[in-house]
Formats: sequence, structure tokens, C-alpha cells
Amino acid sequence: MRCTACGRRAVYHRRYTGDFLCDRCLARSVERRFYRAIRKHNMIKPGERVAVAVSGGKDSVVCMHLLAEYCRSKRCELVAITVDEGIAGYRNRGIPVARKNAEALGIEHRIVSFKESFGATLDEILARAKEKGSGLGACTYCGVLRRSLLNRAARESGASKLATAHNLDDEVQAIMLNYVRSDLARLYRLGPVYQPREGFVPRIKPMREIPEKEIALYALLKGIEADWSECPYRGGIHLEIRDFINWLEENHPNSKFMILRMFDRMRPFLVSAVPEFRPKTCRVCGEPTSSDLCKACELLGELDIGAGS
Ligand SMILES: [Zn+2]
Ligand SMILES: [Zn+2]
Repeated sequence: MRCTACGRRAVYHRRYTGDFLCDRCLARSVERRFYRAIRKHNMIKPGERVAVAVSGGKDSVVCMHLLAEYCRSKRCELVAITVDEGIAGYRNRGIPVARKNAEALGIEHRIVSFKESFGATLDEILARAKEKGSGLGACTYCGVLRRSLLNRAARESGASKLATAHNLDDEVQAIMLNYVRSDLARLYRLGPVYQPREGFVPRIKPMREIPEKEIALYALLKGIEADWSECPYRGGIHLEIRDFINWLEENHPNSKFMILRMFDRMRPFLVSAVPEFRPKTCRVCGEPTSSDLCKACELLGELDIGAGS
């Protein structure tokens, strides 16, 4: 097949638009959507210092490459932050990849770890949770602790924005998950730009309108080195929702974009339904929170781990 746009040999059939794309046109489309999202949502101002969360996986490494280019053109500074959760056999593969890419791009790179910050690796935390009969899943512990640590690291590195590499698939899965769990407050958080309250570095998601498959192809076509392994703890409802949405997209192309668009149209109305938080600081770790104890310290305290114990 030939590229719909330029007639060169196509490498990708984009079903939701009916186009065939060659390597160059696909790469240009990914870049255009990335920069358009930044402009559309006013994510980054010229001269700002931006942090990007980089696990070493394809999405975050591509995000760092595209942001590096953007920051150069806007005289912004970029700092990469990698969280080492402590997942044996998994994260130790992503970290060197993150470091290598940051070095090649000439970007400052900081690594922060669960072990140093909370006194235990994710593996240890989950083992303790199992002992204690906690009903919470791995992604709950990991998500809460990683969010807290990323915010702290971004703030301490002087960044005024924190970019994460959530792609279209991640975002749509999160929307559906919060529907299934009927969690309005979490649903509201899923916008392109979100600042919970003072003390939090605003989060931006410049890849939210790019399908995962196109980011993967971009990494391959550009020869960007990434860690392609999957988190061993990912499972349960997260995988079921992923498969369900992929099945929907397969039978009804463009479903993912439609779910995202519908959510973005509804989001302004959700704000009135989300309780307003009074900013407080956690009595254990001093991080911003809505009650006396932040969620990270609450989870760790229940397991008698770290500063919260
Ligand atoms: Zn083309
Ligand atoms: Zn705390």
C-alpha cells in the first residue's frame, strides 16, 4: 500500500481515519499531535522549567525526546525524573535505558527510589500487604506512592510543570476504570492539565491524544532505545479493561477517541461535583494533602512501614 498523504510505501494502516501512512508521515503526525496538545492546553510557557517522568518504557522515552525538542525551541529547561519502585527483574531494566536516553539528549536526570524515600521497595511493601491481608492491589500502592514521590522530586528540582507520558490508551482505560469504580473525584483528575491544589506541581499530559500503537511505531522508526517489558504486577481489572477497549476499537474504529472527546466535553461539569479540598500538610511527611495524613503515609502506616509507622 501507498501512503495516503505522499505516495511513499506505507508502514501503517490508521483505521480510525482510513489512512495509510509512510514512516515519515506517521512520525510527523505523532510530533504534530504532541505539540498541538501543548499549545491547545497551554501546557508549557516559554522559559519554564519542566520535569518529565521517565520510567524507561517506550512512552516515557518518546515523551522525553519530543519534550527535549520542544524545550530547546522555547528556551525551557527539562529535567528527567525516574522513580525506582523496586520491582525485581523489571525496573532495573528500565532505569539504565532512561539514563542513556537522558544523557544522549543532554538532559539532567534524577533517580528517586521507594527504598530511600519510604524505607521499603514495592516488592517489600506488597509482601507486607499480603501478610497483613490488605485488600488493596499492587497498582494502588504503586500509584499512590509514585505520585507522591514524583511530585516531591519535581518540586525539589524546581520544576513548575510535571509531564507524564500517558497515551490515548492509558487515558481511556483510566476513564473506564473510574466509571466501573464510580469514582468521580479520580475521574475528574484525568484532564490534560491538572493541579490538585497548592503545593502540587501541575501535571501535564502531552501524549494523551496519541494512540499507544503509534508511539510504539514512532520509537521503532526513530530507533529510540526503550525498555519493552511489561510490569509484572499489572493484572486483574486493568488488563480486562484494556482488552475490552481494544476489542471495541477493533470492531468500531475511533471508539477510543470518541470516549476521550466525550469525557473532555463532560469534564467542565464535573468540577462542581468534586468536593473542594482545604489545603493541609501531612503531619508525617509534610507533603500537601487534603487531610491530616497524606494517602501515601496512610497506606504505609497501615503496613507499619517507613515514616508513617
Ligand atoms: Zn507519507
Ligand atoms: Zn505523608
